[in-house]
Amino acid sequence: MEKRKIWKKILESIKVSVSPAIFSTWFSHTHLDELKKEKNKYIVHIGCSSSFVKTTIESRYFGMIQDSLKKELSANCDVIFVVKDIPDTKKVKEDIPTPLFDSRTNEKEEFTRGLAKAQVRQIFSFDNFAVSTSNQMAWAAAEAVTNNPGKAYNPLFIWGGVGLGKTHLMNAIGVSLIKENPEINLVFCTGEHFTNEIVEGIRNKSTQRFRNKYRKLEVLLLDDIQFIAGKDAVQEEFFHTFNVLVSSGSQVVMTSDKPPHEIAKLEERLRSRFEAGLIVDVSPPDFELRCAIIQIKSKERGIDIPMDLVQIIAGNIDSPRKIEGFLIRLASEAKMKKAEITEDLIQLILGKGIDMDNRLPKASPTDVISAITKHYSIRKRDLLGNSRARIVAFPRQMLMYILRTELNLPFQEVGRVVARDHTTVMHGVDKITHLASRDGEIRQDILGIKKML
Ligand code: ADP
Ligand code: MG
Repeated sequence: MEKRKIWKKILESIKVSVSPAIFSTWFSHTHLDELKKEKNKYIVHIGCSSSFVKTTIESRYFGMIQDSLKKELSANCDVIFVVKDIPDTKKVKEDIPTPLFDSRTNEKEEFTRGLAKAQVRQIFSFDNFAVSTSNQMAWAAAEAVTNNPGKAYNPLFIWGGVGLGKTHLMNAIGVSLIKENPEINLVFCTGEHFTNEIVEGIRNKSTQRFRNKYRKLEVLLLDDIQFIAGKDAVQEEFFHTFNVLVSSGSQVVMTSDKPPHEIAKLEERLRSRFEAGLIVDVSPPDFELRCAIIQIKSKERGIDIPMDLVQIIAGNIDSPRKIEGFLIRLASEAKMKKAEITEDLIQLILGKGIDMDNRLPKASPTDVISAITKHYSIRKRDLLGNSRARIVAFPRQMLMYILRTELNLPFQEVGRVVARDHTTVMHGVDKITHLASRDGEIRQDILGIKKML
């Protein structure tokens, strides 16, 4: 009892110094596991619900927790983090970390069967979805829908750019609902698949079968709904399906790359139906969230990346999908070279460019130079000149960094552009990489410059 009270106080003091998203993602999964007095100090064991929570809190909030404990207990404290469930199992449903590995095989089998039938993928669940300000609304809405399908928000419409976790989040709704009830009549499908089924149905005169499948669902999760725009027969069929489902209290969740009013050639009646529900967006992840995603994904791949290196990666890669690509590359390079994961290896791969989905045409060095002179309001002559004054030396290092990491120019080549030797270039690139992993303003600078390219 005493322990719980103390921890509650500590959490209250932490709550005011971190964002709500950080608090609910990390701290709500902790408890005070042990408290021992030893001479003039306390030994404190803090239980974390998973090793992921433990690593994050340990590496980022150690000092904060230690200070609060010291204040509360009026004595020095040695803090030890351990992986342990919160003892009171009734407390919060989501605190049960891995019921997927329940020993009751029957249940497990039913769960697996349920997932397969619904086309839901177990690997994208709420357990491995990290939350921060950029996706907190969408996450909260998805949780609400999971806890109260058909009643909380119907339909739920999640939109946002490529690779920001929409599919993951919607799939997580499916995983949770099936975990709770493997018999639930739920389908996860993409707009493309839905379209194909309708076209097929029309061709084979089997639309009735299609209707039997979709109109009796309890939950429909439709990914990338924008795909049906401009296809009349498909929109027509979907309109009726949608109406039947929503009016009978079944839950509909959709994702899209745009909000309904921006989807070209989406029928007006569908748009207004979508807008009658809840529309939430996900935006690009901030630095903290990228760190969390890197930790989750690396752990899943069985690679261990120390926190300082996680920050370097997060400072250099802005989208979750690219993070995945980067980690695949990192894991395979490390394996191939039988090397440990070091900063050098990470820099090497970052330097090679991790533009897995090479969608943007590459900018030229001249473009980068003009973006930099614009961003820092300096003259090209000064940027490429001899002055070492910080006001020009820093933009120059930024120029080297962008040339190296965005354009993938070799060091020598960068050196030619800025009229410096390649060791100066290496030093400059290194410096910005480090700064970017620590300093939000620098990351903003980088993003701003990249946008201009
Ligand atoms: P979208 O559907 O928005 O294009 P995805 O859901 O396919 O994006 O996400 C791309 C990748 O990034 C997936 O591997 C997903 O697991 C990962 N990802 C994105 N956001 C998160 C997050 N908040 N937590 C954990 N992984 C994430
Ligand atoms: Mg998607």
